[in-house]
Amino acid sequence: MRTPEDELATLSEEGLLRSLRRMESGQLIDANSDGRKVINFSSNDYLGLSRDEALVNAACEATRRHGAGSGASRLISGTLPPHHALEEKIAEWKGTQAALSFANGYATAIGVLGAFLTKGDVVILDKLCHASLIDGARQSGATLRVYPHNDLNKLEDLLGHYRERLPGSSRLIIVTESIFSMDGDRAPLPEIINLAEQHHALLLLDEAHAVGILGSGGQGLAEELGIQDRVTFQMGTLGKAIGSGGGYVAASRSWIDLLLNKARPFIYSTAPPPAQAAASLCGIEVITSSRGEALRNRLWSNISRLAELLGKKPISAIMPVILGTNQAALNASLALLETGYLVPAIRFPTVPRGSARLRITLSAEHTAESIEGLHTNLLKSP
Ligand SMILES: *Cc1c(COP(=O)(O)O)cnc(C)c1O
Repeated sequence: MRTPEDELATLSEEGLLRSLRRMESGQLIDANSDGRKVINFSSNDYLGLSRDEALVNAACEATRRHGAGSGASRLISGTLPPHHALEEKIAEWKGTQAALSFANGYATAIGVLGAFLTKGDVVILDKLCHASLIDGARQSGATLRVYPHNDLNKLEDLLGHYRERLPGSSRLIIVTESIFSMDGDRAPLPEIINLAEQHHALLLLDEAHAVGILGSGGQGLAEELGIQDRVTFQMGTLGKAIGSGGGYVAASRSWIDLLLNKARPFIYSTAPPPAQAAASLCGIEVITSSRGEALRNRLWSNISRLAELLGKKPISAIMPVILGTNQAALNASLALLETGYLVPAIRFPTVPRGSARLRITLSAEHTAESIEGLHTNLLKSP
């Protein structure tokens, strides 16, 4: 029988071994395990809300009122006032009839795709979709087809092919992210929506890295483009810009009713703690307020500054520096860490083989000085 030691040795030889990094807090300037200070350029807490006083207070208050745990699954007796309030807020924010929250974004993807799809249905995914979407599509039992990243011609071919052949009762669904998590680029959303409508396909849009950053109230790319109402399922995480934890999907009432009847990660799991739902609600309230707008503006000026230094277009808060080999990415990450900048090396299977990279993420809390310092040291790294 193969041993875990053998597998670990293989991973290590390939430069693919992973281990946990111990951080002291989620702070922007944090102590690494050896006690040295590092500036964090790896967090998805884009607006710095995870340590925001309002969110921390909301979590404490909800814990005092409703307890540290929910005690049961949502459909039994675990649905408490913070869960209701959060879901009503998400629906209002996203302009839908209803919304449902989950323990995290991963469980949301598995739950939604598993609930809505079955054998005989077809799911068409962008090649660079997040692992949670791929896993959800696989587990659903539907036929899974992948189109090259943002390739509208290939998407149209696949849609045409299956629309002709699928029986009327079968579902055809397109799955894409709005901002891609490891590349930081955007999906051509208006064109994708047009194709979905022409071919009577559903659309699941994961706004994980666009929420809090794009849109008049931080709703994401669909709202920024004025096409929220044409997206069947608006999905995302509450754990990134929103500053708490959890996941959600916003859609029409019937889809949400079906979801809560059929999504296994929702049904067979204890409801998230009240503190998580209350902090998430507070995070959305901050994001939609004038304070949220100011944070978004600060983030965008940081994005513009780093994009200018790197000679790139300011598209999102994620800026990859593609280095190719695992070792090159690991070496560059280590060199930056030694000069006080935490930028992770991202390797297979998170990104395709041969495209290992540094993934820089920016926050509203970074200063121009720290961004310039990162850039200077990036040039020096091997
Ligand atoms: C992070 C992420 C998820 C998962 O969300 P969690 O709340 O972290 O589980 C899903 N989709 C995308 C695109 C993500 O980047």
